Amino acid sequence: MSAVPEISLVVPVYNEEPNIEPLMREIVPALSRITDNFEIIAIDDGSRDGSYEKLKKLHAEEPRIKVIRFRANFGQTAAFSAGFDKARGKIIITMDGDLQNDPADIPAMVAKLNEGYDIVAGWRYDRQDKLLSRKIPSIIANKIISMTTNVHLHDYGCSLKAFRSEVVKNIKLYGEMHRFIPAIASWMGVDVAEMKVNHRPRTAGKSKYGIGRTVRVVLDLITVKFLLSYSTRPIQIFGFIGLISGLLGFALALILSVQRLFFDTPLSNRPILLLAVLLIFIGVQFVSMGLLAELQARTYHESQNKPIYAIKEILE
Ligand code: UDP
Ligand code: MG
Repeated sequence: MSAVPEISLVVPVYNEEPNIEPLMREIVPALSRITDNFEIIAIDDGSRDGSYEKLKKLHAEEPRIKVIRFRANFGQTAAFSAGFDKARGKIIITMDGDLQNDPADIPAMVAKLNEGYDIVAGWRYDRQDKLLSRKIPSIIANKIISMTTNVHLHDYGCSLKAFRSEVVKNIKLYGEMHRFIPAIASWMGVDVAEMKVNHRPRTAGKSKYGIGRTVRVVLDLITVKFLLSYSTRPIQIFGFIGLISGLLGFALALILSVQRLFFDTPLSNRPILLLAVLLIFIGVQFVSMGLLAELQARTYHESQNKPIYAIKEILE
């Protein structure tokens, strides 16, 4: 194994044949401005055009370009994840493989990271995508993400980001979650900076996403929010809802019972009885769900030795 590279750049590629060579011709000089000790990890996410052949040829010419070829199309998040597993650099940079992100922004982002940040996120302040299907949904999604998580950015979806490697090395990504890396990493306390970056229209190949992605992103947000806030104490959320609901139901049932037993009020024409029963059921359900989730949380943390804390330094 050669020396540890200073920078690993991770770039997912799915049917980007016409973009690959021009992209590498921009990336290599941009990284060379920072250091010669870098690696570029391109992940071919099951492309069905000539992307892989192009990457293979580039790898032969420039050994710092490494290629991971997926057997099938596993998606952009999986591609990033594979890149993170392979990356050995102290700094890890992610970007898209379609030339929409501008490699010329990289040196400034690395400089910002070296000011002492753990993550530098790009902000496509002049985004070159379709207004109705991409930009507007993205503005709304960004607002929602910013309100629900404790990392506040203008543009979570921008792939161009720079990370200190320890931030991404221990994160497991699922679904559409690569955009939530700053939020997911926030549990361990990270310093995040945002930086305006250039964004260019797609000139070749096709975009792989439409409006449907926004829905998936919002669903993933619910998962991320839950994992961040309650994954180590699920009973506190499920149990709380369960107790409230159960107590309400019990109180209602008690009133109805007293009326029936001591005041001879018939119950057959009291629809509120149904509500009482329902509330009690929901209460029992939620409390037992919370207990099951507690068991799961223990398996989750202990089976993978995932600590519930993150240490920055120890002085002893
Ligand atoms: N991509 C991928 N796998 C997929 C879809 C996309 O690796 O299943 C890559 C794609 O090649 C590109 C990046 O992810 O490098 C962003 O995709 P795209 O440009 O289509 O997204 P947009 O910029 O329209 O959000
Ligand atoms: Mg794109």
